[in-house]
Amino acid sequence: MSGVLGLASQAEPFRPALSPADDATEPHCLHQTGVPAAVRAGRRWNGLCRDGGSWSGWPFGLSTARQPRLRLGKQTGAGQARRACRTVILRCGSCCRGRRTGSVVAWSSLPQRYYGGAEVVDEIELLCQRRALEAFDLDPAQWGVNVQPYSGSPANLAVYTALLQPHDRIMGLDLPDGGHLTHGYMSDVKRISATSIFFESMPYKLNVCDEVKAHLLADMAHISGLVAAKVIPSPFKHADIVTTTTHKTLRGARSGLIFYRKGVKAVDPKTGREIPYTFEDRINFAVFPSLQGGPHNHAIAAVAVALKQACTPMFREYSLQVLKNARAMADALLERGYSLVSGGTDNHLVLVDLRPKGLDGARAERVLELVSITANKNTCPGDRSAITPGGLRLGAPALTSRQFREDDFRRVVDFIDEGVNIGLEVKTKTAKLQDFKSFLLKDSETSQRLADLRQRVEQFARGFPMPGFDEH
Ligand code: PLP
Repeated sequence: MSGVLGLASQAEPFRPALSPADDATEPHCLHQTGVPAAVRAGRRWNGLCRDGGSWSGWPFGLSTARQPRLRLGKQTGAGQARRACRTVILRCGSCCRGRRTGSVVAWSSLPQRYYGGAEVVDEIELLCQRRALEAFDLDPAQWGVNVQPYSGSPANLAVYTALLQPHDRIMGLDLPDGGHLTHGYMSDVKRISATSIFFESMPYKLNVCDEVKAHLLADMAHISGLVAAKVIPSPFKHADIVTTTTHKTLRGARSGLIFYRKGVKAVDPKTGREIPYTFEDRINFAVFPSLQGGPHNHAIAAVAVALKQACTPMFREYSLQVLKNARAMADALLERGYSLVSGGTDNHLVLVDLRPKGLDGARAERVLELVSITANKNTCPGDRSAITPGGLRLGAPALTSRQFREDDFRRVVDFIDEGVNIGLEVKTKTAKLQDFKSFLLKDSETSQRLADLRQRVEQFARGFPMPGFDEH
């Protein structure tokens, strides 16, 4: 079968237990004509679907455009299939949502409610909103959701635009401590994210916000699928606003969501009058017309599909297995003497701090890449450079989609350990990162060791199905 270990960002299409009958419950405009029966026929969360188009969205359209796109999709999939250890953090989209992103819905790019002729896409958007609230068990009287943000970064910027004046204060978790660029990242010498250029960023390490009357925004981009599956705690109990991408553990198309509280915020103790939340209009206005033009209706349709899938028992089963696999991976790493940031994992990923071993994430990432294991370098608390950060980020979702179980993840850790040891040896013989990278390719003994490890990794990985591809 297929052979790359994907512990990194790109994961496989998620084929849930949807039957054609489930599809039939979608609004008529969500149906894609001409979809091969085999694509519709998957039954397992990690099941196969046979069309390369699912990688980049169903290649609906003119034949001239279709052929190259299809080939590219197949090449990408075959490459992923060989790599057994993809760091698996991010997306595992489904064929079903792929059909939506490339469907006729994409042609309807009208900004809803401003121009006419958008009744059908309005219907899709309302469906997506309903499903978003359902997926996270939210009462429509108390929460609203805007499903138009193009992705996670625009969603966060929209919230800041809605609630802050230029140069107001934002406090986000510092990037090296686990925050995202859009949480206001700046270094000592440079404002890097636009959110630190337009607002006064003050990164925090860990604590409070009620006592200073701040709004609490939870960005659950990575974990929203696990929250929807109810396998980890939900931020909705605590936050005023929750943003998320839709293409990581939620396994949808690339898009963004903003949830905001509605209804009564407090009762004035003096007058007894109810004080309402005022997020809804401000956030909707910030998304459109302040920051975005026409919504990506095709993405909204695809997200609606992903949200429906996220409510199924199959999705919960898959998410539970993701957690088990991540824990097995963490335990195996600890047994082999690795340090993990936070000492282990409660979610889908593990952040290995390679600094105590004497290596960094950039070098480890490159060695692993050469042996068909895809992993991400990542900063660890205290890191100063994002180019050679101390950590390696390993996730479980993609390989779980390929039916990897706990023992398989332990095997993956053996491979990673072999790669790290090669990296450590090469580091003693080289100076800068560039020398290190050249040495890996030029030194014949090292190349031979890498080739041998790669061959074993690929042989192992080929034993697992690769959703969407028969040939690996
Ligand atoms: N927020 C968090 C926590 C993220 O991890 C990411 C992406 O990695 C984003 C926001 C931004 O999402 P996007 O890349 O879709 O703009």
